[in-house]
Amino acid sequence: MLIGTHALSPVVISVFGGALLKYPLKGREFVLIACMGAAPDLLNPHLSLAARHSSWSHSLVGFAVVIGSFFVVAGLIRKVRVRVLCWSAFAYLWHLTCDWFSGGIPYLYPIRKDLIGGGWLSSAYWLYADAFFILLSIMIWKYKSLVSHQKSA
Ligand SMILES: [Zn+2]
Repeated sequence: MLIGTHALSPVVISVFGGALLKYPLKGREFVLIACMGAAPDLLNPHLSLAARHSSWSHSLVGFAVVIGSFFVVAGLIRKVRVRVLCWSAFAYLWHLTCDWFSGGIPYLYPIRKDLIGGGWLSSAYWLYADAFFILLSIMIWKYKSLVSHQKSA
């Protein structure tokens, strides 16, 4: 899938999830979640599916290293709330899940080169998914701005 879906779909899910769990998130926290959602592609940029299939950041090993490091740094600076850490870990795993669904991932790379997943979502639909999540994110942002403006008035 493309970077827009990877960055924005976990943000959309965390907006609704945070509201449902009564743990709303703040604006900057959504940026962090979006970055962690895009992290596997940002850490190991690739254009081809074959390149993704030899990408350490698209494996559970990469997930453990990146999220473990992120948790340690966040613990040291004490500026990130635990719920944001959890949503960030979810965003990274969500990226791997989306890629698992749309072409497969090397789940234990570099330890093993086996792939899991498949091409159940054709690359022909990836751009539509990006457009959907961009539009949905804009609508949510506008709605939240409207609601907060009405509350302050
Ligand atoms: Zn990816």
